[in-house]
Amino acid sequence: MKTRKMNDYVVVSTGSNSSDDYEYVHRQGAELKLGRKLNPGEVVHHVDGKKDNNTLENLEVMRSHADHGRFHSKNTVLIRRHEDGVVTVDTVPIVCGVCGDEFVPRSATQTICSKKCSDAHLAAIKPDTCTQHGLSTDQVRTLLWENPCTAVAKELGVSETAIRKYCKKHGIDKPGPGYWAKKAAELV
Ligand SMILES: [Zn+2]
Ligand SMILES: [Zn+2]
Repeated sequence: MKTRKMNDYVVVSTGSNSSDDYEYVHRQGAELKLGRKLNPGEVVHHVDGKKDNNTLENLEVMRSHADHGRFHSKNTVLIRRHEDGVVTVDTVPIVCGVCGDEFVPRSATQTICSKKCSDAHLAAIKPDTCTQHGLSTDQVRTLLWENPCTAVAKELGVSETAIRKYCKKHGIDKPGPGYWAKKAAELV
């Protein structure tokens, strides 16, 4: 039988002279191994990754393209080799590192289930600068009524914008514009 390569796969001509009639050798081998015809959706996987190594030990039949895709993905998967010779590959749910719920990850690096959990996680690892300094919101309020914002910002090593955002977030009332100028003039 005359074989030739097609997209790295070995094919064998089945017609008398037409090169359009061919069959994949790995699919023929897989059918030999299973002892039946392959179903249209079934995929033949080359164990060693070499598409032209069609020894029977190197051929594995997977249930579907989706199973084959999962097999080659970097996701954590459950590979089952069934008695009839067909391999199934299922995605394994993992536990969300934040809420503890089980979910099926979309990539190998995903460890958090949702945007909500991801935001909660970020908030937890990025504490407020003021909290980092061990200051309560009351202490920050006191600081801001005793010192100009610029001085407090300098002391904490953050920008005045950061202080303003912190106050807004925690509902801290701080001196308005002109307060310190008036105070300097003994008007407050
Ligand atoms: Zn494969
Ligand atoms: Zn979660």
